[in-house]
Amino acid sequence: MHTSNLLFWIVENDNPIERNRSADYIMDSAINYYNYDNPHLPYTAGQLFLDNGAYTAASQNLNLEVDRIVAVQEAIWPNKTIPLDYPLRPGMGLSAIKKNWGNTKRNIMYWQENTRLSKRLVAPLHAWDKESLKRNIGWLQKYADTDLLAVGSLVNYNEFGGYFGDRQPRRETIDLLTLAVQTINKESDFKVHLMGFGASPLTLHLAYYMGAYSTDSSGYRRKAAYGKIVLPGSGERYAGNSSATFGLTMYTHRDLDLLSECRCQICRANPDVLWSSWRARAAHNEFVMKLEAARADALLAQGRDAYALYLEDVFSRSSLRYLWKHTKERVRYHRISEYLVGR
Ligand SMILES: [Zn+2]
Repeated sequence: MHTSNLLFWIVENDNPIERNRSADYIMDSAINYYNYDNPHLPYTAGQLFLDNGAYTAASQNLNLEVDRIVAVQEAIWPNKTIPLDYPLRPGMGLSAIKKNWGNTKRNIMYWQENTRLSKRLVAPLHAWDKESLKRNIGWLQKYADTDLLAVGSLVNYNEFGGYFGDRQPRRETIDLLTLAVQTINKESDFKVHLMGFGASPLTLHLAYYMGAYSTDSSGYRRKAAYGKIVLPGSGERYAGNSSATFGLTMYTHRDLDLLSECRCQICRANPDVLWSSWRARAAHNEFVMKLEAARADALLAQGRDAYALYLEDVFSRSSLRYLWKHTKERVRYHRISEYLVGR
């Protein structure tokens, strides 16, 4: 039997789509339970990856307390969790960047030495240029007691741009991420979790193709709330929130064929609900995303070329095809330079 080489985490929160998650890999965030007297999940999770909420806090200018985050994480007792880190933000100066990374390193040590979570940690990686990328991976290799790195924020300090958990990646983001993932894979024995890269089946595939081991998706749910449904092998399409005709006219015959073949519980019972219920769309979207992740896993087991062939076809019908082309070039570029250096 084929064993899974990739991980794909479905994002839930304290208002879950589904209460029985005992067969799922779930990602949730400590920030959702930060103010609970008695933090606990309102659902059961097969495997739980509890993010620390630092990215949300940074983007909302909130200050998270170290001890409170530890308390929430220890109460919920996830399978994996991240020490409180300090993401880099657009426009930050170099001294602020270095200060944040220093505080992140301090917390990694604190979590390892002073909490019960030490064997469950995923270490956060931030970097601001090529040198810091290598140096920070080296530091983590030496001190972090984990086999998984979470790639949080990456900044190209010398030029404009960066990766801040962006939902719609740009070419520059792909450059930074490919460099980071390939450097980690080459210079360390860590596996890589790309934070929030499963917004759609397309970004999910980009993450796995560039060498990530794990990513997560809140997109299945956010898209559903905005009236979008995801079709197998084609990214996404819109379904009307209120008007079925609006939704249906957006679909080509090929789209409707793909949809009619969907085996999710919603489509098997009554696909019309997709046009009226966002929870139904979320359930459908999740099903499709999981299928795509499983397909990525199976194809990668046959080799990167087999996977590339599939992606060539998927992206040929997508507006993101330029990103696929770019990712492919970057991955190839890194492989060739690695080969040349290795000679
Ligand atoms: Zn379906």
